[in-house]
Amino acid sequence: KKITIAIDGYSSTGKSTIAKKLAKKLGYVYVDTGAMYRAVALYCLENHLIKENEVLKEELIEKLPEIELLFKITPQTGNADIHLNGKNVEKDIRTLRVSNVVSMVAAVSEVRKKLVQQQQRMGAHKGLVMDGRDIGTVVFPDAELKIFMTASPEKRAIRRYKELIDRGDNVIYDEVLKNVQNRDHIDSTRKDSPLREANDAVKIDSTNLDLEETYKKCLQLALH
Ligand code: C5P
Repeated sequence: KKITIAIDGYSSTGKSTIAKKLAKKLGYVYVDTGAMYRAVALYCLENHLIKENEVLKEELIEKLPEIELLFKITPQTGNADIHLNGKNVEKDIRTLRVSNVVSMVAAVSEVRKKLVQQQQRMGAHKGLVMDGRDIGTVVFPDAELKIFMTASPEKRAIRRYKELIDRGDNVIYDEVLKNVQNRDHIDSTRKDSPLREANDAVKIDSTNLDLEETYKKCLQLALH
């Protein structure tokens, strides 16, 4: 029987890598909701909707109907890449510049409402792995399996730092650590659907587990 798997947790815990792998193994659809919030943040940066580290909320709300997000398979890689108004922005949304503003944008209720609706539509059919911050609590409170991932901030910052360096971004570790901690803080203290563990979620702390070990635990949960 096909089910819905919700994977939530803190930034850079390996959520998306594991969710992707799990979906592939199970023949499920994978949806990265962080990519959607990141694409809206990129839109804000490109359209000057962020001034002095503040989102121009009213202007953004007005522009929301003009923001079209779509996941499309890139034939060369087989990956479902996110498209913002017709353009593949999968790479552009992973920069530290976007990471530094995304949580602010994700704290705007109207943004959340739009994206949650789209996510619920995508999950209408079973056989889905979705990762984010509020999937088990808000998007799919009835998901058959909920996983909540944590790890120490230092471990997570090292992971993210290596990823950024691997793609050729010139970043400093301390800056990445600060970003990870700052996003966690904004995500857990925002008024609208703050990051928290669902009551019926299985918690996995990956501070001392590598990706393969964490993945195996998740797969075991999915098969039971
Ligand atoms: O998962 P990722 O780190 O790419 O998410 C980027 C940011 O998007 C998070 O720090 C959070 O502010 C926001 N987000 C959210 N709700 C989700 C997914 C992501 O608020 N379901």
